[in-house]
Amino acid sequence: MSTLLEVSGVSITFDGFRAINNLSIQFAEPELRAIIGPNGAGKTTFMDIVTGKTKPDEGKVIWGDRNISLLGLSESQIALEGIGRKFQKPTVFEAQTVRENLAMALKTPRGPMAVLFHKKTAENAARIEEIAAQIGLTDSLTRVAGELSHGQKQWLEIGMLLAQEPRLLLVDEPAAGMTAEEREKTTDILREAARTRAVVVVEHDMEFVRRLDCKVTVLHEGAVLAEGSLDHVTSDQKVIDVYLGRAHA
Ligand code: ADP
Ligand code: MG
Repeated sequence: MSTLLEVSGVSITFDGFRAINNLSIQFAEPELRAIIGPNGAGKTTFMDIVTGKTKPDEGKVIWGDRNISLLGLSESQIALEGIGRKFQKPTVFEAQTVRENLAMALKTPRGPMAVLFHKKTAENAARIEEIAAQIGLTDSLTRVAGELSHGQKQWLEIGMLLAQEPRLLLVDEPAAGMTAEEREKTTDILREAARTRAVVVVEHDMEFVRRLDCKVTVLHEGAVLAEGSLDHVTSDQKVIDVYLGRAHA
């Protein structure tokens, strides 16, 4: 396990409000991490900063084996570096089949190797089967995405992100709107995906986080309040005061 992403001393102020406040957080490769915290803690802003959507006022965001600063890169350059992001709302192509959606998402060959078209076609078909199995949609490959359930659309979008072979996958509140059964399957998919990459999941559903069975970081007022196992952080009095106490009040 080595450090894949190192965020240190990052701050950003929106209209005088410090949404991220001297935040330092690291992720290893591979690793599965859950990020929890009250509304407005800065969880989504943290993802915006890592993906280049928002540039911080200060701090460092260092990536990969060559210690690249992500702050100098555009959103698309960061995506090419291997950082994928799943937003809350699924954005699959509703009129296309599951297979077509996955095919469009596959990492496309670049350069002279792209001429080996036939070999590539067979490889792609195998890769699509592999991803479909991983997201539990093998039996739905020929279905039109618009007919899928909400949960299945979410899995398809996760599959489309996996097709890009990201080294880091950021997932914002995947459990929202899912049935209990779909949530359970989603934790399986994320845990499996995290065997070979870093997967960072922002989620409010504690049962979901428990099932992820991973290290948890609690964000509060744009900084890390506590970090460790779920049992460790949920028994921390600071966490109870600012988050758990309030969530159940
Ligand atoms: P979380 O995802 O933890 O609920 P956010 O990262 O969405 O929190 O927001 C943190 C704080 O920053 C909130 O108070 C939010 O209103 C503010 N904020 C986030 N993005 C912007 C923005 N682009 N402009 C102004 N304020 C923002
Ligand atoms: Mg958010």
